[in-house]
Amino acid sequence: MSGSPAKVPNIPQPPKFATPAEERVHRKRVLAAAFRLFSRFGFDEGVAGHITARDPERLDHFWLNPFGMHFGQIRASDLILVNHRGEVVEGEHLVNGAAFAIHSQVHAARPDVVAAAHAHSMYGKSWASLGRLLDPITQDACAFYEDHGLFSDFTGVVYETSEGERIAKALGPHKAAILQNHGLITVGETVEEAAWWFITMDRSCQAQLLAEAAGVPVKIDHAHAIVTRQQVGNHLAGWFQFQPLLARILRDEPDLCD
Ligand SMILES: [Zn+2]
Repeated sequence: MSGSPAKVPNIPQPPKFATPAEERVHRKRVLAAAFRLFSRFGFDEGVAGHITARDPERLDHFWLNPFGMHFGQIRASDLILVNHRGEVVEGEHLVNGAAFAIHSQVHAARPDVVAAAHAHSMYGKSWASLGRLLDPITQDACAFYEDHGLFSDFTGVVYETSEGERIAKALGPHKAAILQNHGLITVGETVEEAAWWFITMDRSCQAQLLAEAAGVPVKIDHAHAIVTRQQVGNHLAGWFQFQPLLARILRDEPDLCD
């Protein structure tokens, strides 16, 4: 995952917290907000999809959405905490077996990752059927230039942690992976960052599908794609791009913080 600092001066920084308890409250609110936004973007497909956030104290536990609850109705208090064996240790709801199989392995393989997002969004899964990486055809798509992997071995719904491990391997050190015939997965050092990469990656899939349906898109050359990735694809840029969406959903749907 590209981690060079943003070259844009004077942009806000992620908040710092005095205690893990305060950080947990923030993380759960942003996670609930990310689900509300995923609902608005139409990323839900029945009961599929999950975003996870590592607990700030119990580092092998993560928070995620209850299995079977619509993204658009999730409140911070609905989130469940799952341990490294897939057992629900806080919350009343069920855990999605596929969520645990995939996300537990990603969180285990990537200690730098606080959050991971996966959904069966329309453009992400359409692009994923092609078995190709995204090309640097727009400024936005450069965030993923040489910074996403391809998992090309679809064998059905992921219920085994051994398959989650292979997905984590395909993700490698990157911010995202395309799961062929399935959808997208993105990760970040913050929930905000992981959610933003998912939103912008789905839109980059849409852009490339549209562009290739109309003609042959011009690719940005290697050197400029790298420079642009450093500008738009670093951790802070990912966090910052999410801020206007977060402010809007917090104002429109304040019950998400309950
Ligand atoms: Zn899935």
